[in-house]
Amino acid sequence: MHTLRVDSDETLTPTYAGRSFSHDIPKFVLPPKGLASDAAYQLVHDELNLDGNPALNLASFVTSWMEPHADLLAAETLAKNLIDQDEYPQSEVIHERVVTITGRLFHAPPGGRATGTATIGSSEAIMLAMLAHKRSWQRRREAAGEPTERPNMVLGADVHTCWEKFARYFEVEARVAPMAEDRFTIGAEQVEPLLDERTIGVAGLLGTTFTGQSDDLTSIDALLQRIERERGLRIPLHVDAASGGFIVPFARPEERWDFRLPSVRSINVSNHKFGLVYPGMGTVVFRDAGDLPEELVFHINYLGGDMPNYSLNFSRPSSSVILQYFAFLRLGREGYTQIVQSMLANSHALARRLAAIDGLAVITDGSEFPVVAARATEPELDLFALSRLLRERGWIVPAYTLPADAEHVTVLRMVVKENFSRDMVDMLGSDVAASMHALRSKADRRPGKVRRRPHC
Ligand SMILES: *Cc1c(COP(=O)(O)O)cnc(C)c1O
Repeated sequence: MHTLRVDSDETLTPTYAGRSFSHDIPKFVLPPKGLASDAAYQLVHDELNLDGNPALNLASFVTSWMEPHADLLAAETLAKNLIDQDEYPQSEVIHERVVTITGRLFHAPPGGRATGTATIGSSEAIMLAMLAHKRSWQRRREAAGEPTERPNMVLGADVHTCWEKFARYFEVEARVAPMAEDRFTIGAEQVEPLLDERTIGVAGLLGTTFTGQSDDLTSIDALLQRIERERGLRIPLHVDAASGGFIVPFARPEERWDFRLPSVRSINVSNHKFGLVYPGMGTVVFRDAGDLPEELVFHINYLGGDMPNYSLNFSRPSSSVILQYFAFLRLGREGYTQIVQSMLANSHALARRLAAIDGLAVITDGSEFPVVAARATEPELDLFALSRLLRERGWIVPAYTLPADAEHVTVLRMVVKENFSRDMVDMLGSDVAASMHALRSKADRRPGKVRRRPHC
C-alpha cells in the first residue's frame, strides 16, 4: 500500500490524512488524481481556518455578512455569466434597474435609464469613468485644433491607490495636492493651482479610505464652474463615493455632493461596501449619455443579439448584481436609513470610548461616517504595536501612516459595519484600553525613561 509522506513542504498533510486520502496531494502542481468531493471540501474548508474572522475585521469596508436568503440567491446565480445578456435577458434587465436605481439615488437627471454599468468594484468603475473623460477631452481638443498629448488629472493625496493605478496604466499625469499636518482632505484652494487646459478631470472623495472624511466637494464644484465661465475650460468633477455613496444619501439626504452639483459628471460607488452586498460589485454612473463617448461602447453580437458593453472585464458571475437588487428590495430607503443610523450610532459610541483612553486622540468621531480614526498623543506610543496586541484578541484593526505631507501621523482606523453591535463596541473599547495600558507600562519600563504621569 502507498504510504503518505507526512513531512513534506510540497504536499498537503492534514492530520486526518490517513482516513480520507490514499495519495499525496501536491501543493504546487495539479494533483494527478482527484479526491472525493466531501474530502476536498473538508480539506479546503479547514485550510481556510487560518484566515481572520470576517466579523472581527474592522480593517475592511467590504460587506462580510448578508441574510440567508441572499446566500441562497448567490448560490443560484453564480453559474450565470452576466455578459451573456442574450441568454440571461432578465439578469440584464435587473442589471439596468440596479444601475438606474443607483443613478437616481445620486440625483441623475430624471427620465429614462441612467448611463452606467456594474463593475467588479470601484477600481474598475473609476478607470471606466476617467477613460471616458480622457477620451471626451481628447475629442474636444481635436475639434479645437489643440494637441492631445500629456493629459493630467487633479486629485488629493487622500485618494485610494486605484487612482494612481489609473494614472500609471492609462498614462495620465496625476497632479496630487498634498495633505497638511491638520488637513487630510482637499478643497478648491488646493485644486485651483493644479488645473490647466490639459486637465481631463478632478477627483473628489466622499469618504476617504484613510480617515473617512470627505473632500470639500461644493467648493471644488464652484471652482470648476467659475473656471468654465472665465476660461472656457470644461473640467468634469468625478466623485469617488466608494464608501460614502450609500451612507450620505441616507444619513444626510439634504447634503449636496452628487449630480445636484453641476460639475459632477460621473460617480462611482462600491456596492460591496455600504450597498451591503458581498465583494465583487461596484457601479459607475454618468450624468448623461453624452458623458460616455459612443466609441468606447462595444457592441457584441456573437452571443446572439446586440449587446452594448462598457467594461474592462468580460465574464463575471451575475450574483453580485442580483444581490444588490435583493438588498434594494429587501431594505428600501427605510431599511438602509435604519442600518446607516445604527452604524453611525455605534461608530460614534466607539469614538467616545476611544477618546476617553489616555494616549489616544480621535480624528474622526464616527458621527458622520462609520469610520473611527485615532492617533497617539505621545510619540513613543506605537500604534502598530497596539494593532498587533489587538490582533491577539482576534480584532483586525490596522494602523498606518497618512499620505504625504501628513505621513508622520500614524492612525488606527476602524470601520464599523452593520454586523458590529453595540456590545462589540464595548468589548473592543475595553480591549483597546487594556492593550493601551499594557503598551504604556512597557514604554514606561524602558531604561532611561522617566515615568510622566500615573495611569490607573
Ligand atoms: C474602497 C475604495 C476604492 C476601491 O474600491 P474597490 O471597490 O475595492 O475597487 C476606491 N476609492 C475609495 C475612496 C475607496 O474607499
